[in-house]
Amino acid sequence: MTTVSDNKPTPAFSDFSLSKPVLDAIKRIGYEQPSPIQSESIPPLLDGRDLIGTAQTGTGKTAAFALPLLSQIDLKKKEPQILVLAPTRELAIQVAEAFKTYAGEMKGFNVLPIYGGQGMDGQLRQLRRGAHVVVGTPGRVMDHLRRSTLKLNAIKSIVLDEGDEMLRMGFIDDVTWILDQAPKKRQVALFSATMPAPIRRVADKYLVNPQIVKIVSKTSTVERIEQRFWLVSGLHKLDALTRILEVEDFDGIIMFVRTKALTVELAEKLEARGYSASAINGDMTQTLRERTIVQLKKGKIDILVATDVAARGIDVTRISHVINYDIPYDTEAYVHRIGRTGRAGRTGKAILFVAPRERRLLRAIEKATRQPISAMELPTQRQINEKRATLFKDKITEALSHKNLSFFDQVIQSYLEESDVDPMQLASALAYMAQKSKPLVLAESSNKTTTKERLSGKKDSSFRKNRPVQEDQNSFPKSKRGNPKVPMDNYRVAVGKNHQVKPGDLVGAIANEAEVEPKNIGHIELRDDHSFIELPIGMPKIVFESLKKIRVRNLPLKIERTGHVAKPSATTTKPTKGKKTYTKKPKKKKKKSLRKD
Ligand code: AMP
Repeated sequence: MTTVSDNKPTPAFSDFSLSKPVLDAIKRIGYEQPSPIQSESIPPLLDGRDLIGTAQTGTGKTAAFALPLLSQIDLKKKEPQILVLAPTRELAIQVAEAFKTYAGEMKGFNVLPIYGGQGMDGQLRQLRRGAHVVVGTPGRVMDHLRRSTLKLNAIKSIVLDEGDEMLRMGFIDDVTWILDQAPKKRQVALFSATMPAPIRRVADKYLVNPQIVKIVSKTSTVERIEQRFWLVSGLHKLDALTRILEVEDFDGIIMFVRTKALTVELAEKLEARGYSASAINGDMTQTLRERTIVQLKKGKIDILVATDVAARGIDVTRISHVINYDIPYDTEAYVHRIGRTGRAGRTGKAILFVAPRERRLLRAIEKATRQPISAMELPTQRQINEKRATLFKDKITEALSHKNLSFFDQVIQSYLEESDVDPMQLASALAYMAQKSKPLVLAESSNKTTTKERLSGKKDSSFRKNRPVQEDQNSFPKSKRGNPKVPMDNYRVAVGKNHQVKPGDLVGAIANEAEVEPKNIGHIELRDDHSFIELPIGMPKIVFESLKKIRVRNLPLKIERTGHVAKPSATTTKPTKGKKTYTKKPKKKKKKSLRKD
């Protein structure tokens, strides 16, 4: 049995005999190093061995089986060579999408998700066309096997994903029935977060001398660190983060993400929002990494966006917060990450973003650290307003302590004499002027006013960096998206279902970059390798140019107009001025930290 906390040096993906297209795909996606479950599962699976992996969602288990199995696929054969059984339709789709992504460099590759509730016809057509990998729920796979529309004679490997869930959902007999239909000479990999007796019995009966890989959560104590988590829902992670940064009192922050590409992307986004942030990842030379860390030490930057590899051993006393933007694969990585704060006897804070499907991993972390991680609410608009007001008052106090205000005394004095205005009103007017680029009050209406001001061009272009949190991004309506009163243009983007792109990704990225309100984003149609999206007519050139450059799920969006104008709904009385729905202004060249202004 291999336990994954055996403190072995972490291998690189290139250390495994994965096929070249698979290695190329990993490189393109930007995974820096294998997760623990991957390091331990890939070699035996490449050797054709059976395997039992005790791992939950979020540990990287999909790639742990997909990468080695894809490496052994014969693309010329059109029959299914890999069968993955998953408990739910959602997981089946997700796993199929992951296969597509990892097989992105394998020409002619086909994966087919099959699940109940979906019309048989489409599935039959696609099965006839041929799929190298079939990912299905047990019931529907059984249906196809009974009708002989799916044949298992070319199957080389079977994966049972989330075995305990399949048991819980009553699929265990179906699973064993399917295993009985498969060729005797085949490889079986069973992944399960827990190993209840019936699953163990399946393993004993159907797996031959399996390699057992287990993520053992070593208990580790984490002291002096206040830990909180936010369950990702509704709001985009980046918008949630922006809100948190608005109200948290922080000094230095290390923010952890999973890919090298995301370190750069997130650091850029934070910079654009006015924070002084830098990326640090394994692609950077040691010298550059060290230089970046020194900058953090000296307070030249406040936020470091890092991968686990790059942040190893960082010891900077001013790190007050660790933000786990992406959840780590295991407890050890978590403990290591949050140990970057609370240095030199200080107290530190750790915040963890947890997607609903990663909840189990959160519980595992709590268990291993023997500490509860408390749920946090996102700061409300009111808290943000209060915080902004407090900071503003601090700035007044600071300015008052300035010795050399006599020139301003004179100006104000003469103004008072000339205009006979109440000094209190004058002070308020000055306050208004001083806060203009970063409004103190973030009310729904204030957002609108700001938009108007920005459109009128009266405002300075620093809007982006001091952008108020947009309250209406709270949720992206899924089905009935789009403001019926806004006439739309149709656009094509070069990302789609194959890239694991969800409508929320497109809405989030486009809303951020074009600063168009999510409610004004129209219908989104996801196709396999591209998508269509409706955006309000009259997109300014500068917005279009910057949208052309953005990346979604780490892939260039490559947006282009299709020339087709989507009709506004019948409720449209007169066309709204499309341009007003875009608020982007040219970026200022020099960015300054919010915390220092
Ligand atoms: P899973 O546990 O398979 O659901 O994977 C969780 C997430 O981790 C997915 O979003 C993967 O894209 C991501 N992931 C898997 N392996 C790696 C890796 N080696 N480096 C970075 N991210 C990864």
